[in-house]
Amino acid sequence: MEIIKTNFPQIKRDYLETLQINIGYKCNQACSHCHVDASPKRKEMMSDDIIKLIPKVIKANNIQLLDITGGAPELHPKFKQLVTEVRSMNVEVMDRCNLTILTEPGHENLTSFLASNKVQITASLPCYLEDNVDKQRGKGVFEKSILALKRLNSYGYGLTDKELILNLVYNPSSPQLPPSQKELEDKYRSELKERYGIFFSNLFVLANMPINRYKEYLNIIGKLKAYNQLLKDNHNSRNLKSVMCKSTISVDWEGYLYDCDFNQQLGMRRIGDIQHLNDLLIPLISLENNPISIGNHCFGCTAGSGSSCGGELS
Ligand code: SF4
Ligand code: SF4
Repeated sequence: MEIIKTNFPQIKRDYLETLQINIGYKCNQACSHCHVDASPKRKEMMSDDIIKLIPKVIKANNIQLLDITGGAPELHPKFKQLVTEVRSMNVEVMDRCNLTILTEPGHENLTSFLASNKVQITASLPCYLEDNVDKQRGKGVFEKSILALKRLNSYGYGLTDKELILNLVYNPSSPQLPPSQKELEDKYRSELKERYGIFFSNLFVLANMPINRYKEYLNIIGKLKAYNQLLKDNHNSRNLKSVMCKSTISVDWEGYLYDCDFNQQLGMRRIGDIQHLNDLLIPLISLENNPISIGNHCFGCTAGSGSSCGGELS
């Protein structure tokens, strides 16, 4: 195990609640801030053998939420089969959906599939203004996202029916910390309702992680050092108790385990013997109190109000 020099505090795992799987890196988009470097050209996809392990691991570890990410997870040929099987076990499923996939040819029945299986949707929408979204996510993405949101609303997502949860995700377009989640959520709610008649459940604000494509971007604009320093200067130790690696384990397309999706993208393996999904099937195995692999990027989770897959931490 490579020792990474960082002054981020040592942290340990709590009880495992969420299995977050990266089912493949293929995406119909190629956003400038993407920490996965996903694009239509990526070929990595989870195999059938690894997919078959997922329900077994969920059962063996009493996992409460399967969080499916990618790429665009819906592009995996076994996406629907996996969702159906896990929902039949009465386990929550979250689809990290980029919205535009719902409008792509060949995916016309995707919205109805997600609704009928009561899959939670968490979707990126970095602004309620077209120019800002298209600048970050590609030309035409905003228009398609609005179409997809209207379609989701028409199935009951984000409305008073609490069973169909539609979360939106904001991340800053410039190298700064995100604003207050509550204030921005109120603003999103009124702007999206007034401008487009769109409703949603919650807004999550996330800090951009200075890794991969976003790191390259910061380097090009000469802001990488300043952004890393900003994250460090705003480290808030109160966030340490709720960073997502405490209760979530991240799985790559080959079934290897990481303490979080960011570590996965950095190729930072876990400390200890539990390295693969198969290891989570060993009787009485537990991740509790295992040390977490940390690096300087971890300040992206603890800066300011904190940042996780579920938004602000404090
Ligand atoms: S939609 Fe998501 S996974 Fe796809 S390129 Fe954009 S940020 Fe990456
Ligand atoms: S980057 Fe990953 S390992 Fe580091 S604090 Fe955040 S969730 Fe935990």
